Amino acid sequence: MNLSPAEDRAAKVRPMPIRVRPAPRPTLIASEGSVAVSRKGESRILRGHPWVFRPDVEASPSLAPGAIVRVHGPQGLFLGYAFYSTKSDIQLRLIQRSPELSESFLQDRLAQAFQRRQALWVGDRRGIGNAYRMVHGEADGLPSLIVDRYGDYLVIQTLSEGMERLKPRLVELLDELARPRGILERNDAKIRTLEGLPLRLELLSGHVPAKVDVDEAGIRLEVDLWKGRKTGLYLDQRENHLMARAYARGRVLDAFTYTGGFALHVAKSSDQVVALDISPEAVEQARQNAFRNDLWNVRVETANALDYLREAAGRADAFDMIILDPPALAKSKDMVETARRFYREINMRAMKLLSPGGTLITCSCSNHVHEPDFENILVAAAAEAQVAMILLEKRRQSRDHPALLGAPETQYLKCMVLQRMLS
Ligand code: SAH
Repeated sequence: MNLSPAEDRAAKVRPMPIRVRPAPRPTLIASEGSVAVSRKGESRILRGHPWVFRPDVEASPSLAPGAIVRVHGPQGLFLGYAFYSTKSDIQLRLIQRSPELSESFLQDRLAQAFQRRQALWVGDRRGIGNAYRMVHGEADGLPSLIVDRYGDYLVIQTLSEGMERLKPRLVELLDELARPRGILERNDAKIRTLEGLPLRLELLSGHVPAKVDVDEAGIRLEVDLWKGRKTGLYLDQRENHLMARAYARGRVLDAFTYTGGFALHVAKSSDQVVALDISPEAVEQARQNAFRNDLWNVRVETANALDYLREAAGRADAFDMIILDPPALAKSKDMVETARRFYREINMRAMKLLSPGGTLITCSCSNHVHEPDFENILVAAAAEAQVAMILLEKRRQSRDHPALLGAPETQYLKCMVLQRMLS
């Protein structure tokens, strides 16, 4: 594969050479204040979590929004540096645990995040494509920052006061390190309102066209970076799309297809794919994408997946593979029960519709439905469907969306691969 200019440049971000002379002492950032956390806050931090909630923080009301503060435990133990939020329930987001915070920390973390992506794909350059997450917040040591790469363009989200304040410097650094043709700010994510930050959709540098062409491991996708969901694509499913392709055969149903993420990959290794989405814009884009890839065995329909599954039961329709990737249904704790019922019904109906030996790929990106919980839902669904299912894989989001051990919120996507018993 010929590398695109941006990929070529990104590949040049190499690990720092070993220094033979002692490094000059880095310039340190002076903190803008100190805060104390309760015993509970301290033990959260010591167990690896980077967030401390409002009731566990004692701070002076005069601290500036997004200030970088030193954090101490109730007995004065130094715990690290953090972004301070004036409005969010998450009042502290740890940025570093060691005592000296270098002025170049933003640049260093960005370079480390880029190098981590390069290292992930050593020997697998053809499989990557040119759309992936370059910075995944907390797990890259850059809390509340998202940087997604779509070919020659970058889309960013700054989701706390602390990161928002660093935005001008961040844009300079991204321009320098990745040399994109344009940087777009997709700060129109509702979650910003919980931080007291305004919703914003703005060009920060260069230019970004209405539609951008990207490559996902050999599949060409047209992406609307300005209006598409998330930052344009569900990049967190990229490795699962490839996995699905390896299992696909016969007749496939992709019930929540968006712009064809799973459908287009599985079409390469199956006879026929029925792809559904409730959004007519997503369906139109999925059709365009199928057309661009010369995939004539994909039929995309605007439909409510639950209605489709209910009606298909009456027709005794069978599929050799069914993919369920609904949107985050439990965004808050009080929606968990409704989400559970929905997951149970769609999975129960899908299991019934599978031909014996057929594969079910079933996902949940709801933060409040944890993996064991999701597995229990699947157990209940199989019991109700009266089918025996084999569990082949328990997967998560792609590795360019790493999770932080000790912070379960960063491991939000569950993706299980099941197979219906032959008899
Ligand atoms: N599988 C896709 C991402 C799916 S996101 C990928 O890998 O790229 C979830 C999608 O479900 C969204 O496009 C949304 O429009 C769609 N959706 C939400 N509710 C739906 C429903 N009841 N029936 C069908 N599609 C639905």
